[in-house]
Amino acid sequence: MTENNNPGCLTAFLRFFGLGRESGPESLPYRLKDRILTESELSFYLVLKSILGERLTICPKVRLSDIFFVPRRNENMSAYNRINQKHVDFLICDPRTMKPLFGVELDDSSHKRSDREARDELVDQVFAAAGLPLVRVPARTAYSRSEINALISQALGTKPAIESPSEEEKADNPGQDKAPLCPKCGIPMVLRTAARGANAGRQFYGCVNYPNCREVLPYQPV
Ligand SMILES: [Zn+2]
Repeated sequence: MTENNNPGCLTAFLRFFGLGRESGPESLPYRLKDRILTESELSFYLVLKSILGERLTICPKVRLSDIFFVPRRNENMSAYNRINQKHVDFLICDPRTMKPLFGVELDDSSHKRSDREARDELVDQVFAAAGLPLVRVPARTAYSRSEINALISQALGTKPAIESPSEEEKADNPGQDKAPLCPKCGIPMVLRTAARGANAGRQFYGCVNYPNCREVLPYQPV
């Protein structure tokens, strides 16, 4: 019968017997949290916000894989997997570009547990490897503005640890016919042509990991 082929009739039939409701969104097991920050995190966030104001943007709970990338992910799946499920408590960004400037971790008593210590060490290493400062603040019930201010100035004064290629590496990669290595990722760059702006039509070397990596190098035609 044609009625059997009509899904509208089937749904009505199932509803009549109290069946087939699993498709509605209200049946899914998702509920809204009242807050995304703990008491201690919120108290710290408000002090941080009063210090930074509109000058810098504070992003709470950012996944490390949103901040860092692995240049050759296929060859480094384990490096990617190690950071995939981890977060930093706060990421401070430039408000106009959202470029990450430094991270902030609140160290509560759980950080003394051995599993936490191993996790903290990994996070420290990831930040150091990518040259992003990380400020660790001991968790308290109240925060001193001057103490946090001092920690932030210290973080912003820290020189990024991104190294430019050594003279030796440059010597290994000479010649205009060979693409230079990306200073950040250490892999050969690709020749691109600027589509717009003052340099439209001009060729340059860009990173294959664009837009995660925005390193560019000039191209000199032979
Ligand atoms: Zn790169």
